[in-house]
Amino acid sequence: MGNYYDKAMECATLYEMESLQSFRLSQTVRRVYENVPFYRDRMIEQGVTPDDIKSVADLHKLPFVMKQDLRDTYPYGLFAVPLEDVVRLHASSGTTGKQIVVGYTRNDLEIWNDCAARALVAAGGTKADFMHVSYGYGLFTGGLGVHGGAEKLGMTVIPVSTGNTARQINIFKDFGSTLICWTPSYAMFIAETMRDMGITKDQIKLKAGLFGAEPWTQEMRVTLEEMLGLKAYDIYGLTEIIGPGVSFECEEQTGMHICEDHFIPEIIDPDTGKVLPLGEQGELVFTCISKEAFPLLRYRTRDIAVLSREKCSCGRTLIKMLKPKGRTDDMLIIRGVNVFPSQIETALLSVAGSEPFYHINVDRINNNDTLEIEVEVSEAMFSDTIKSMEDIENAIRVAVESVIGIGAKITMCEPKTLKRFEGKAAHVTDRRKLLD
Ligand code: ADP
Ligand code: ZN
Repeated sequence: MGNYYDKAMECATLYEMESLQSFRLSQTVRRVYENVPFYRDRMIEQGVTPDDIKSVADLHKLPFVMKQDLRDTYPYGLFAVPLEDVVRLHASSGTTGKQIVVGYTRNDLEIWNDCAARALVAAGGTKADFMHVSYGYGLFTGGLGVHGGAEKLGMTVIPVSTGNTARQINIFKDFGSTLICWTPSYAMFIAETMRDMGITKDQIKLKAGLFGAEPWTQEMRVTLEEMLGLKAYDIYGLTEIIGPGVSFECEEQTGMHICEDHFIPEIIDPDTGKVLPLGEQGELVFTCISKEAFPLLRYRTRDIAVLSREKCSCGRTLIKMLKPKGRTDDMLIIRGVNVFPSQIETALLSVAGSEPFYHINVDRINNNDTLEIEVEVSEAMFSDTIKSMEDIENAIRVAVESVIGIGAKITMCEPKTLKRFEGKAAHVTDRRKLLD
């Protein structure tokens, strides 16, 4: 049993949690119905009134909100308070199209800081820590989100932001950073650069890292923990809901506890919209029940995940989401088979000698989908014999086929030839999109 930031909420009974959720939900629905024409119109269309939403069990009666709705009402159409009460704006990083804008009241920022603080405490953070933030600062929610939580806990915050990898390393070495926040792809790049600079993990004080903003695998966790000598925790969030801290990992590292006193999760079938029972995989949907400026109701995240209420050894009772596999729009359909890039990462990292630097190329040649995976090999392997390179290539081919169920062309690349990323990685080039 560890430390908690807000034990009453993090360890509440299911009855307490559902009572609070029901109360907050009914209040929020009434408020957006009165203040946001978009919600009022949608609810009237659906034949629901605020009186119909009395508890969490009524949630399914509400219409969904999609990313396109945010684009259609851009910039302020979904804000539920007068703009003069908004103290901060952020925007999504626009990974999948036109950016959207969200706003926060002072109270919303406190909620966000509290959620981020829960995540930091769950990763072993205390006020004595030096928190190195390498998430980007700016409109992207990563940097300022984690920053707020760390400051609230009284940590010594080092707002480095992204970029200038060698400088990052010198800073965390010289300043004695103990906690760090990166995208997993940037963490990998940093670990590699550190190795090149001849800095060993004994020369740094990092004890834990919070890695998020993109999907990453259990295999990547093992690699990062080994290379950096720290414990790697997952942290999840999205701009539309609040930013990093929607959910976070505890020491058990078997999924992320969702701050469900603020954001009620559901899993739905992405094709039919039907709510699925706990334990089934589907699209994650969130309803914000405490936010003032931008409280989305039943927002479809497009992230594919599984929810679980299994008892957690950390003592927290907050529902958990298992590591998200990726977004529905990242899913590749190759020769009729659904493939997530994260599955390919799992396969690659299960083979010794392959590095977590890879690129996936999908194309259509003579009406046939083709899949090529470019993988870097480690320096040691590369200088080894051609025979062992062939062995690795074969091992990767077999591993990939057994995980995704279809064959792929494996192209071995020399060390350091594939692109490195400082923020979210772009692992896929799908040339078929250009053909359509
Ligand atoms: P954008 O939608 O432009 O990328 P965001 O920065 O808001 O903007 O990204 C949020 C998305 O990032 C989530 O919906 C999810 O797909 C992904 N994400 C964030 N954290 C994680 C994580 N820990 N694991 C997997 N995916 C994550
Ligand atoms: Zn736990």
